[in-house]
Amino acid sequence: MNEYLKLVSESETIRFADLVRRVEATGKKVIKLETGDPDFATHQVIIKAGYDAMQAGYTHYGVSRGLPELRAALARKLISENKITADPSKEILVTNGGVHGLYLAMQAILNPGDEVIVPEPYWMPYRSGTLLARAVPVIVSATQSGFKLTAEQLKKAITAKSKLLMLNSPGNPSGAVYSEAELRTICEIACDAGLYIISDEVYEKILHDDTKHWSIGSDDRFKNNVVSLFSFSKSYAMTGWRVAYVVANEALTAQMLKVLQYSITVVAPFVQKAALAALTHPESEAYLQAMKREYSARREVIKTLARQLPAGVVNIPDGAFYCLINTAQLGMKSLECAEHFLTEHNVSFTPGRAFGNGMENYLRMTFAASIDDIKYGMGKLISAFSK
Ligand code: PLP
Repeated sequence: MNEYLKLVSESETIRFADLVRRVEATGKKVIKLETGDPDFATHQVIIKAGYDAMQAGYTHYGVSRGLPELRAALARKLISENKITADPSKEILVTNGGVHGLYLAMQAILNPGDEVIVPEPYWMPYRSGTLLARAVPVIVSATQSGFKLTAEQLKKAITAKSKLLMLNSPGNPSGAVYSEAELRTICEIACDAGLYIISDEVYEKILHDDTKHWSIGSDDRFKNNVVSLFSFSKSYAMTGWRVAYVVANEALTAQMLKVLQYSITVVAPFVQKAALAALTHPESEAYLQAMKREYSARREVIKTLARQLPAGVVNIPDGAFYCLINTAQLGMKSLECAEHFLTEHNVSFTPGRAFGNGMENYLRMTFAASIDDIKYGMGKLISAFSK
């Protein structure tokens, strides 16, 4: 057995989801506010495109980088929406979900012993992906700075061994969105120190109020050091299809391509056809806008109910579909607290420890759930805090 893998722990979120399933198996109905999976169905035009592609014979191997027509459409989207110029024949790879794109990038960038700066709270695969590459995660707490890494924190974390900075905006689990100015400052420091940056932008389209998303790869000064990571999962409610893409310079893309070829060969071509429809079909775009409006409406419901909780307990996010709940006042560590809500009140929140050791005072509540479920969960929080 690979001794090294023992360092990588099982995903806390998956482990907690298993616990939820066990409680459900006892016959209880659990209100699920722990998932990162949109509660919307994939739109019919996308499903039909996948089905039609299967009928048309897209059921064999294909070009490992991704279908040329999909990469061409992605290059158009990148320039028009993200202001990123990418050569579809050399700088874009279609991956088996964002988590696979992250894996490719980390495998291509990291040598054993390299340090990866990971702002906390973080999405678990940043840490485990680092360990899988035999590199060293350097966790930097950003809980006191609006869940965003500051320039000072970054400067302090950089050592001679630093190789990579992980950035995620809009962020999971905090929903924090870095402004363009904040990103420019951070990226200048990182690039001056010769670091690569993985810019995880899978929540790029889920923004609230008038929050703006800015892509680091749009600036030529940073472009060469950046791997930009995008996914169809969250924007188009396509988590189960497993399709995403990475954008990087030609040399790095060539390295990532080898890891892709030796891990999955190619993303299922009919899935890529479905992704193409998601990207280009007007009905898919209208659906995306409707989902966005619904997420924002749910966030408003949370904002209103949060007034019944002590100030600062609920972190209202600028992007994505998660709220962090500060449970310090309840006097339980995060797993105990999540188990309490699950077993006593039949509602599931993700324990904060899934997002870093410094997150024991938090639960994550998703609003990729119905308004009724959100109201139920908020009601249970309000009664717990009023005791
Ligand atoms: N990045 C972040 C921050 C996420 O939360 C997720 C999924 O939860 C992903 C990337 C990857 O999603 P997928 O692998 O479904 O594309």
